[in-house]
Amino acid sequence: MREEIRNLEKLSRPLDPGPEDRLEVRSKVIDYCERFLNNIPNPHDVALNESKGLLDSPIEEGDAKIDKLILLLEKNVHSSGLNPASAGHLGYIPGGGLYSAALGDYLAAVFNRYAGLHSTGPGAVVMENMLIRWMAQMVGYPENAAGNLTTGGSLAHLIAIVTARDAKVISGTEVSRSVVYVSEHGHHSIDKALRIAGLGTIHVRRIPVDERYRMRVDELEEQIELDYKRGFNPFLAVASAGTTNVGAVDPLEKIGAICRKNQLWYHVDAAYGGFFLLTAAGREKLRGMELSDSVIMDPHKGLFLPYGLGVVLVKDQEGLKESFYHEKASYLQDDKADPTEPSPADLSPELTKHFRGLRLWLPLKLHGVAPFRASLEEKLLLAEYFYNQIKQCGFEVSSEPPDLSVVTYRYVPTDMANDLAAQNKFNEDLNEAVVNDGRIFISSTRLNGKFTLRFACLSFRTHLDTIDELIKILNDKVAELLKKQ
Ligand SMILES: *Cc1c(COP(=O)(O)O)cnc(C)c1O
Repeated sequence: MREEIRNLEKLSRPLDPGPEDRLEVRSKVIDYCERFLNNIPNPHDVALNESKGLLDSPIEEGDAKIDKLILLLEKNVHSSGLNPASAGHLGYIPGGGLYSAALGDYLAAVFNRYAGLHSTGPGAVVMENMLIRWMAQMVGYPENAAGNLTTGGSLAHLIAIVTARDAKVISGTEVSRSVVYVSEHGHHSIDKALRIAGLGTIHVRRIPVDERYRMRVDELEEQIELDYKRGFNPFLAVASAGTTNVGAVDPLEKIGAICRKNQLWYHVDAAYGGFFLLTAAGREKLRGMELSDSVIMDPHKGLFLPYGLGVVLVKDQEGLKESFYHEKASYLQDDKADPTEPSPADLSPELTKHFRGLRLWLPLKLHGVAPFRASLEEKLLLAEYFYNQIKQCGFEVSSEPPDLSVVTYRYVPTDMANDLAAQNKFNEDLNEAVVNDGRIFISSTRLNGKFTLRFACLSFRTHLDTIDELIKILNDKVAELLKKQ
């Protein structure tokens, strides 16, 4: 038996490489990363789109050389689809990918500290709680707030909505009597979270927006009143602190006051816009967020982190505990909770979890907050600059001026002034022409039946030169399309 065990030990040895093997793999991976970072490809280069090639290399018993695997990645993963690392990614909500955050992930993975429970990973838990407190303070929440670092905004929504559901005791027959209020432009992840939370049959009132795509508070108030009169149970209102579609900020203070008056749970979706709180202009625009009972923000958007980090904050931590604390299995009987440092496992659906805090802590400590603040302020100004420039170039701008860093716009040729279908076709063609050009990626949306182009600026790599380039591309493509007619 000992011999058999020894033999298996030998066969499993590659899982624990020595310093030389580590050096070889590591340096090749690092070289590959450096090649990428020193010459970041266009945001939308589909020339090499052949991700199916991965399937020609199935998972096998035998090993493979790292060079071959890097080649596989290069051809099938890193050359297909969108490249969120590009400064020219100005569509959807641009991706980030701070290098220092990648190193934080590396450290988290190599040391692999258990971040679910304070008793086993006190350093990890203290760090994550410290980051949560930093963000709670940014929002204006009291000391008693708590939260959780999630994989993203959608999971953060789910945690907030479950907390709200339990705090307001929405269960059984109460569900189909209860009402949620969200603007027409509220993110679809809210509806998804409601359904997953067992609230699929709840009434969702889509509150109309004003001409700047912000929730109309008069309509909200009227609807709540009407619902009370009809015997419904108004329960939750969700405001957007920056919609994904057009970047609109709902009247957060007024909605907060309405929620308080009517005893609704007030949840704010700040997944996209939340970190503009770091700027003076953003703080002004996001005033009222502190009135909420819960809020979500996405560091993998507003703090430029690689994908995989959202945060949910709940004003009263008792609510989170109420929903997520669970008696532990007997094999965890030695876990001694520290009342001052709650464990993520007691405030979220997870037990074993990635030590997500390190990918946020390292960049914040290494660079300090100042460059984040500056970059976010730069993004607000770039959006305003873009808005001013394209207006001068004859584009029609949907919302003026932009609330945050999203601008929606379209070009209306004079001879199409009365023909919406032709206008839409023109802008569809314009969108396609810009995207196919490859240098800059933009996206589109539909507003009141109008095909509209979207400019969303949130990458730490996007600067003035990129915006000037986009303006030039837009003008060139408009001229080309007009000539073709
Ligand atoms: C991105 C986004 C979400 C969803 O967050 P994920 O991190 O993609 O899960 C929710 N709300 C808004 C406003 C968003 O921009």
